[in-house]
Amino acid sequence: MAGIVVVGAGQAGSSLVAKLRVLGYSGDVTLIGDEPVPPYQRPPLSKAYLMGKMELERLFLRPEAYYGEHNITLRTGAPVTRIDAAAKTVWLGDEAIAYDQLALTTGAEPRQLPAAIGGDLGGVYAVRRLSDIDAMSAEFVAGRRVLIVGGGYIGLEAAAVAAQKGLTVTVIEAAPRILGRVASAETADFMRDLHSSHGVTIREGVGLARLTGDGRVSGAELADGSSLAVDFVIAGIGINPASALAEGAGLTMDNGIAVDDHNRTSDPAIFAAGDCASFDYKGSRIRLESVQNAIDQAESVAANMLGADKPYAPMPWFWSDQYDVKLQIAGLNTGYNRIVTRLAGSARSHWYYAGDTFLAVDAMNDPRGYMVGKRLLEQGKNPDPAALENPETDLKSLLK
Ligand SMILES: Cc1cc2nc3c(=O)[nH]c(=O)nc-3n(C[C@H](O)[C@H](O)[C@H](O)COP(=O)(O)OP(=O)(O)OC[C@H]3O[C@@H](n4cnc5c(N)ncnc54)[C@H](O)[C@@H]3O)c2cc1C
Repeated sequence: MAGIVVVGAGQAGSSLVAKLRVLGYSGDVTLIGDEPVPPYQRPPLSKAYLMGKMELERLFLRPEAYYGEHNITLRTGAPVTRIDAAAKTVWLGDEAIAYDQLALTTGAEPRQLPAAIGGDLGGVYAVRRLSDIDAMSAEFVAGRRVLIVGGGYIGLEAAAVAAQKGLTVTVIEAAPRILGRVASAETADFMRDLHSSHGVTIREGVGLARLTGDGRVSGAELADGSSLAVDFVIAGIGINPASALAEGAGLTMDNGIAVDDHNRTSDPAIFAAGDCASFDYKGSRIRLESVQNAIDQAESVAANMLGADKPYAPMPWFWSDQYDVKLQIAGLNTGYNRIVTRLAGSARSHWYYAGDTFLAVDAMNDPRGYMVGKRLLEQGKNPDPAALENPETDLKSLLK
């Protein structure tokens, strides 16, 4: 028996192999990753780890010994270069590994600023891998000037760390506002004010024309004709699903590796999960770039590989830490036409509705609002907006 092979040793890959053992699978399991370290969590990379407040060891999802103890072959620093789906074999250069079932958990690659506009200059960094953070951390010295290109979560989290370390921080966002793709205008307003109060300059509706410098970046010219001097640059301009391997194997692509409701690709022996996989959610094909989805989808793959025959039911949730604010999001607010704001002490939450249907909640320093919102979504309940708006309402009463 060739067993199960998992390509991509990140959040999803490591959850998948662990779940296989929890479910009692005793066949061969091989987890293959191209990074030189055991699977680790990425969220702290733009938060506590970048801040210098988290040890490397604590990033690892499981101690390295775990894999051996559970008879899981972990291959690190080992890029898979090709899949031969007909022969059920993956290739690492000229080494072949056979599989009965294969899972692709290859994650995503950060979009790069094009070399034609200076994206290849020294001092320009992405925020995806541990090696990216280790490369940029020496730049975080008080008084230095950083330009952050992109006002999404990753860019804003890096901005928060830089501001707290005493750097002069400018964020530019080409779209009309920050967090345009992922959050409402109300949540973006709150985040903008938070950054402004920490001295960060946020310029919205202004793209990057080009980076300048001799070998190393020293300036930026913006689309509105202005320019600024910089010491280094962080690009937080989104990710692309890492799907080249799957494409090469002839699998169906659609905004990443297309999977069905059992997380199976167009090849019945190959599954996919995590940032690289797209699936149908309420009629649209989406990818959820979040830890929770990586774990849940990977665990669903493990169960279905072992014959569970159970559709995947995603429950989107996400969080972001910036300064002393924890933002927690349950659900997806796509299609909302009404927003209810709840202010209760220092807790703030935004509740999204399409008509009377409750879709999602953004909770800022409001763990109770988040937890209740998540439960309401799980139960398919639509809380009364008037009750939410009233700070005297005990949120838990809405669950009854
Ligand atoms: C800086 C940062 C902060 C984040 N913060 C949050 C947050 O606060 N909350 C949240 O929910 N989510 C957050 N995320 C998103 C979350 O980390 C991802 O959604 C999650 O890691 C996806 O897991 P994955 O297993 O799909 O991909 P990954 O964890 O990226 O793992 C994929 C792995 O596969 C490897 N690989 C790719 N191709 C090959 C190949 N051919 N051969 C071998 N290996 C290969 C990759 O190198 C990588 O190691 C953050 C992400 C980043 C980068």
